Amino acid sequence: MSTENTGNFPSVFSVLFYILMATDKFIDIHTHNETADSHTISVVNKDMTGWGRSDKQSPDTYFSVGIHPWKVTPNWKEHIPIVENMAKHPDVLMVGECGLDKVHGECDMELQKEVFRWHILLSERLEKPLLIHCVKAFDELFRIKKETAPQQLWIVHGFRGKKEQAIQLMRNGIELSFGERFNEDALHEAYECNKLWIETDDKQIRIESVYDVISDKLNCPVGQLADRMRTKFLRVFGK
Ligand SMILES: [Zn+2]
Repeated sequence: MSTENTGNFPSVFSVLFYILMATDKFIDIHTHNETADSHTISVVNKDMTGWGRSDKQSPDTYFSVGIHPWKVTPNWKEHIPIVENMAKHPDVLMVGECGLDKVHGECDMELQKEVFRWHILLSERLEKPLLIHCVKAFDELFRIKKETAPQQLWIVHGFRGKKEQAIQLMRNGIELSFGERFNEDALHEAYECNKLWIETDDKQIRIESVYDVISDKLNCPVGQLADRMRTKFLRVFGK
């Protein structure tokens, strides 16, 4: 195909324009901040308190829905109908955050495991990835993963563990999401394996600033990093 054919110019131009527009966006895989930003495609976390009217602030706002381990109570089953209903919505991309927390979780580990297992079943049934909060309970996490043998992708968010733990998680088919604080060796490992995600979580910061820190540590230009995340997001979520 000749590039001298001026008749092709508008389409080549529009393809370039599309690429520039597409790479302009930063994926924030997990946030509790609902403020829309034209440069961000974000997955906003919702819990069993349900939707608000202004939740979907932009076409690039998506959601994850689940019961956080800090909010697990003995009457958690009361929340099943609302969480299930919300999770079915096409804008909900993941089930969670859910998981296990030995440090901050107020209810006992057996109940946390029961609620976590329910989220796994929901994620499998709806064919949506699972977003996991895990604090000092990785052995339990591996055990449950082995026992339930899920097909859906699992992402552990807010990962701050060391390289060895990152490797162990990735060997178990689990991907990792990094925020503003992390272990540098673990970050490199996740990047090399293409199992890296980037998030703001509950911090009042812009996702660009997290990309800046991570791109600096990886010695990878921000645009290239954003591109890679964008491609990954499209592949996993089709958005
Ligand atoms: Zn969170």
